Amino acid sequence: MSETAPTHIVIGAGIVGAATAYALQKRGARVTLIDRGEPGRGASYGNSGALSPGSVAPLAMPGVLKTVPGMLLDPQGPLHVPPEYLFTALPWLLRFVAASAPEQVARISNALAQLHAGAIDRHLELAREIGAPELIIQRGHLHLYPDEAALAKDAAGWKLREQHGVKFERIGREQILALESQVGPRYQVGIHMPEQATVVNPFRYVTRIVAAFAANGGRVEQGEVQRLEATAPPGNSGWRCVGAARSWEAPQVVIAAGAWSLRLLEGIGMHVPLETQRGYHVTFKGVVAPISRTVVLADRKAFLAPMEEGLRIGGTVEFGGLDRLPDYRRARLLAQFARETFAGLGDAQEEVWMGHRPCFPDTLPRVGPAPAHPGLWLAFGHGHLGLTDSVNTARLLAEIIT
Ligand SMILES: Cc1cc2nc3c(=O)[nH]c(=O)nc-3n(C[C@H](O)[C@H](O)[C@H](O)COP(=O)(O)OP(=O)(O)OC[C@H]3O[C@@H](n4cnc5c(N)ncnc54)[C@H](O)[C@@H]3O)c2cc1C
Repeated sequence: MSETAPTHIVIGAGIVGAATAYALQKRGARVTLIDRGEPGRGASYGNSGALSPGSVAPLAMPGVLKTVPGMLLDPQGPLHVPPEYLFTALPWLLRFVAASAPEQVARISNALAQLHAGAIDRHLELAREIGAPELIIQRGHLHLYPDEAALAKDAAGWKLREQHGVKFERIGREQILALESQVGPRYQVGIHMPEQATVVNPFRYVTRIVAAFAANGGRVEQGEVQRLEATAPPGNSGWRCVGAARSWEAPQVVIAAGAWSLRLLEGIGMHVPLETQRGYHVTFKGVVAPISRTVVLADRKAFLAPMEEGLRIGGTVEFGGLDRLPDYRRARLLAQFARETFAGLGDAQEEVWMGHRPCFPDTLPRVGPAPAHPGLWLAFGHGHLGLTDSVNTARLLAEIIT
């Protein structure tokens, strides 16, 4: 191998791939980071910016079978499966329900707690290293409920957090207003999580990591990897990433292509139950955000954040695959929730966006070696928590790969 040939390739420059390329480079690897588009334009572009290591409750909790049908029937509900996609989504949904068994929930919750441990400190360290400490604010998260009955519906999730030592405090309307004075009267009960944090511009975060990686000698290439080919004899590592116009080769390849990772794996005969849970955001651009920290409308499963560009509200889970066009009615619903909670958003310009959360039925990402494929590594499936878990994924992978 020549002195300049990469030792490692990372496919996908979302937050997971960017952080992984950066971490590998720090450990002395010669890394090429490939994305078919501009880095950070996937799910990592428009997430809600919440750094939530306290989120140790899996998505499928006991009783999910009772709550999901009601959500599906409610046009304003946080979950939507278009009828024509139901059949495609069914095997995934059945696995999702199986993951809600109490013993599975305990296992998954422990794994989530391990993956999240120390995440905020590592994000702060990374943000400092890339010269952008202003991207992270540490003012906690505020979860809002209309009343005790709504809070009671989430009791199991809060109990899990308590068991894992996550700090939080139940507060009333007066304390809500002391933290965030502009919250409308719909919300009377709150939970304050003082240790959580917020990235105030997730896209700029990725671009700054990639810029730091490039400044340290990393190569950033634009191109779509169409398939993977093993270049080494069985048992040895070596991969070719074949694109339309050119190919890239290295002994070690990390797949960090978010929800699209599935397509690369299918080409080498690996099948994983990865689905996209499509989510939406609306950013009210140019407004002074009426909040100073992440605020969660817990009854509507929507996250609001004070972004550099204005106020963002993100949420909803929509099935429908990678190719179907966005249904921006979901985003308009989010905008309505924001306007109902915060008077004074006026006629602010609204940016709408849809992104693909890469989700496994058991909530857990796949991070580690691809079974039976030496030199190939998996780093995808972070679902609703990919921003939070990107740094720990990167660190873990860089440690085991190098
Ligand atoms: C509405 C919404 C709100 C969210 N809020 C939060 C939050 O508050 N906190 C949190 O922790 N997480 C949140 N998430 C989840 C988080 O955004 C994702 O888990 C995370 O961005 C996934 O990162 P990734 O790098 O795996 O994927 P992506 O960011 O999607 O990156 C994958 C990259 O791979 C590239 N790619 C794909 N295929 C190929 C190929 N064949 N060749 C070359 N390049 C390829 C794509 O172009 C893309 O750039 C949210 C998600 C959504 C949708």
